[in-house]
Amino acid sequence: MMICPNCKSRLKKVKVNVEDAKTKAISYQCTNCDYFTFEPSSSIQVLREIKEKESPLKIRRKQ
Ligand SMILES: [Zn+2]
Repeated sequence: MMICPNCKSRLKKVKVNVEDAKTKAISYQCTNCDYFTFEPSSSIQVLREIKEKESPLKIRRKQ
């Protein structure tokens, strides 16, 4: 269980859609204040997908 660093309340696990990424990012939102953070491993995956989409040269394969 994740605890809010601001108010020590329980953080709610929420899956969020990120533009340009297939994978939903997992975030933690405080039920009491406005604290919000992304789960590190899921944000890395989402950032990777966004980067891949932005650089089409990378997916061009040699035959
Ligand atoms: Zn809080």
